[in-house]
Amino acid sequence: MDEVTKPAVAGGSLVRPCTKCWAQEATLDSRSHAVCRDCFAKFISTKCIKQIAILGKETRAPGGPPAASSTGASTSPRRYLLGLSLGVSSSVLLHLLNENVEFQLAKGRNAPFELTVVHIDVSSSLVPTSTSTSTSTSTSTSTASAPAAALEKYRQRYPRFDFQCVPLSAIFGLRTVDWSKLPDVQNINTTAPSPPSQDQNQQQEQKLRQLFDGLASAAARTDVLRLLVRHVLVAAARDGGCQALLLGHSTTALAELTLAETAKGRGFALPWLVNDGLLPVVEYEYHDSGTAAAARNSDGPAATAASMLVYHPLRDALRKELVTYATLTAPPLTALISDAPDAAVATSSNGGNGAGAVVSHKDLSIEEVMVRYFAEVETNYASVVANVARTTGKLVRLDNNGTGTGEDGNGARCGLCGMPLDEQGDERWRGELGEAKDDQLLSSSGRICYGCERSTRG
Ligand SMILES: [Zn+2]
Ligand SMILES: [Zn+2]
Repeated sequence: MDEVTKPAVAGGSLVRPCTKCWAQEATLDSRSHAVCRDCFAKFISTKCIKQIAILGKETRAPGGPPAASSTGASTSPRRYLLGLSLGVSSSVLLHLLNENVEFQLAKGRNAPFELTVVHIDVSSSLVPTSTSTSTSTSTSTSTASAPAAALEKYRQRYPRFDFQCVPLSAIFGLRTVDWSKLPDVQNINTTAPSPPSQDQNQQQEQKLRQLFDGLASAAARTDVLRLLVRHVLVAAARDGGCQALLLGHSTTALAELTLAETAKGRGFALPWLVNDGLLPVVEYEYHDSGTAAAARNSDGPAATAASMLVYHPLRDALRKELVTYATLTAPPLTALISDAPDAAVATSSNGGNGAGAVVSHKDLSIEEVMVRYFAEVETNYASVVANVARTTGKLVRLDNNGTGTGEDGNGARCGLCGMPLDEQGDERWRGELGEAKDDQLLSSSGRICYGCERSTRG
């Protein structure tokens, strides 16, 4: 933001004039500048709009993603999908996107994009099977889940956008996960008719709980939950004909993700996890045996069925700044936002209400350790947080062939997280676990990365 030169007579009656506009009282500190509420809000909004403008060019480029043809570019509107965790960051992103659309419309222009807002309801996924039996029967008779009710408030506030609440169990309808790599779910029926009946929904919820019960630790559950949420979001974006998936990650969240994923052995995949750009999507074919094989084309390697642009428009804003921003809107966003942190899309069990019950203090996930760590760091050393995210941003997406052409997704990919496999690196990460056994990891159904191996096999 350009600083206005301090006028000679400005701020005469002000106790502490804003160092940006010199016209209002400064009530906030923004990166060592005393600023007013308006200038702070503009500062955050500008950061977001800048990223949205970059995405706008990307989705208009000739030869780019679907719906961007040379003739159709001006007539077919851009359509994006926003993953809404009901936490602070994604709620602020939603608000800013709405502001952007209203600003353009007020100027007599067309809306710059259409937006579908999707919340993945994970509320029943992590409740242990033993304690959830009564819950599941009672929720089946109630009208809506807590997340669905929370989403309704968003829908009323932003009627321009399309809102959807998708249960995490929708994952069982997807072919982007190699189910043979997950415990106890080999017999997933991926050809279930859609839309599924109420009975099928309950069966799938049950199946989901069994899946998470089968994982060895809370850390593993948190990890797999985040991966599955991402799969469902990408699928929703593809099904909805969206050109990009928008995620609300702040600078702080991206820094957390960087260190957490590195610690979990997915350092190789960081450029795909943290940077903006095309995410290749692999689909698996299922055979009667229940094993999956990556879809193959005549040339041999696993075919990349599709790809999706993934963007983080708030990548230049700190989480604490978004928390402040949420109190500045009229009315404040705080009434909408549930109290759970949305650091890693979904580190909480149910989007906020009563969250955290799943993870005991003895068994903190790496994500939670990172959230706590960066909450402290960003208070005093904001530049450190920014540096972590920025350094990762410079990493090149090297694919297995080392040509740096990873975005077209020609290399082998992990059957669970979908990220490229580091052929040599995984051996190093594996360390004391020893060499991978061929029958475990090199079957016809491909492989999973070290990070996913650790989460699914304890
Ligand atoms: Zn100001
Ligand atoms: Zn993986």
